[in-house]
Order: sequence, then structure tokens, then C-alpha cells
Amino acid sequence: MQLKDKIAIVTGARRGMGRTHALVLAKEGAKVVVSDISLEDCEKVVDEIKSSGGQAIAVKCDVTKKQEIEKMVKEALDKFEKIDILVNNAGIAEFKAFLEMTEEEWDRTLDINLKGYFLCAQACAKEMAKQKSGVIINIASVAMGQVGIGFPNIAHYCASKGGIVGMTEALAVELAPYNIRVNAIAPGMIETPMIDTIKEDPKSMEAMLARVPMHRVGKPEEVSELVLFLASDKSSYMTGSVVVIDGGWLAT
Ligand code: NAP
Repeated sequence: MQLKDKIAIVTGARRGMGRTHALVLAKEGAKVVVSDISLEDCEKVVDEIKSSGGQAIAVKCDVTKKQEIEKMVKEALDKFEKIDILVNNAGIAEFKAFLEMTEEEWDRTLDINLKGYFLCAQACAKEMAKQKSGVIINIASVAMGQVGIGFPNIAHYCASKGGIVGMTEALAVELAPYNIRVNAIAPGMIETPMIDTIKEDPKSMEAMLARVPMHRVGKPEEVSELVLFLASDKSSYMTGSVVVIDGGWLAT
């Protein structure tokens, strides 16, 4: 029970990695706010947590809407009285050739993947600062730039993930006096609905896997174990870090 009595918010938690982050944190004793655009699916995750003896609530929250984020924070405080952990996880990856990418498509990705992280981090950090403790975990990606690989057809996604890394480092410095640790995780290819489009084309899937020394995609739970580590006191001297979890992809 590494997170006994801790309160965690996970965004984009109705499916994929957000779901497993919520389940793993709850298994370690955290009371979890499971949030996403679809309340119905969040409630299913909450049921799973409760059936294993954990505590959780489902909250509808579109991370592009400041009012919904404020409501999510209020519901967390009303129910659990504090916020110890934020996992900024909600994100989209829409493939589009750069020369055809519209301004709307660019804005949509940046609004969810980057501005959404800012809004959630700020709303939660204000509460964490009052209690002089907290942990923020930002889910970035190996597609964050400066890794020796360019990722075609997702320029907006790469820009958002690079922005997350820069923001993580800035917040780590700014929030350290409040005893708030801020770290990022950069996953490689992980088995979630987000990679369905890649999986539809066996050739591009094989080409991707050929670059991964472990020659497999990661399991969502493998990333959740890293989220747990960064959320727990076991990582008490870590802030401003970007931890890559990619089966060795960036090592090649
Ligand atoms: P996923 O299964 O698609 O989950 C993402 C979740 O975020 C979905 O439930 C999605 O809801 C939700 N979401 C989208 N827009 C939202 C918004 N405006 N407000 C709140 N929630 C919203 O993908 P995943 O792979 O678990 O991705 C989780 C995170 O890991 C993302 O930040 C992603 O960029 C990152 N990541 C994934 C991989 C990978 O290979 N899977 C690799 C590196 C990084 P809808 O389904 O309704 O859109």
C-alpha cells in the first residue's frame, strides 16, 4: 500500500493507459478520481476499482475546458478533501501529413495534449501548494523531440509532447519550493487503442517493431508501474526528470 491515504486524479482514464494508471494507483491504496470525456466508461473503471476494495469516483472532464477542470478539482476536494497526485494523461494522436494539416487540426491536438496539461497542472498545483506537497506526472512520448528520430505525419503531436517536456522542467523548478515534484514519462509504443491505426497496417507495425530491441509493444500496466513509482515516496528525490520507457527504442 505505497499510496495509502493519497488522493490521485487521472485524466483520460476511461480506457488505455489512463485506465491502468487508475487501477494500479488504487491497488496501492490511492483514492482515485477517474476522469475523461465519457462519464459512462469512467464509471466502469470506478466499478472495477470498487470491486477490488478500492475507492474512486468518476468525473466527466474535457481537459480543454477550464470550467470542467475546476469542477473536477472541486469534486475531488468535496469527496476526498485534498489532491496529492495528478496524472496528466489525456491525449490524442491523429495522423496527418504536414502539408495537409489544417490550423484546426493543429489547435485541437495542442489544446488537448498541451494546454489541457497546463490547465490541469495549474488547477491541481494551486491546491497542492496550499498543503505544501504534491506530485504531478505528465505523460509525454518518445516523440518529444531531440531523441535522434523524427516522427512523420504527427508534427502537432510531436510539438505537444516536446512542449510537455519543457513545461515539466519549468514546473519542477517553480514548484519545488512548495514541495511539489513534477516529472514526465516518455513511453514508446504501448498496446492501447491509440495505436490501432498503426496495427491496421501490418507492414508499418513490423517496421516500427524492427526498431525496438525488445521487439514488442509495451503493456499499459508496465507504464503504470512507472507512474506508481513516480507517484510514491520511492522517487522522493526525483523532479524535472523525463523517464523513457520504450523497450530500448531510443537506445538504437
Ligand atoms: P487512448 O487509449 O486513446 O486514451 C486516451 C484517453 O484520453 C481516451 O480515453 C480519450 O478519450 C481521452 N481524451 C481525449 N481527449 C480528451 C479530452 N479533451 N479530455 C479528456 N480526455 C480526453 O490512448 P493511450 O495510449 O492510453 O494514451 C494515453 C497517453 O499516453 C496520451 O497522452 C498519449 O499521447 C500517451 N502515449 C501513448 C503511446 C502509445 O503508444 N499508446 C505512446 C506514447 C505516449 P476519447 O477516446 O473519447 O478520445
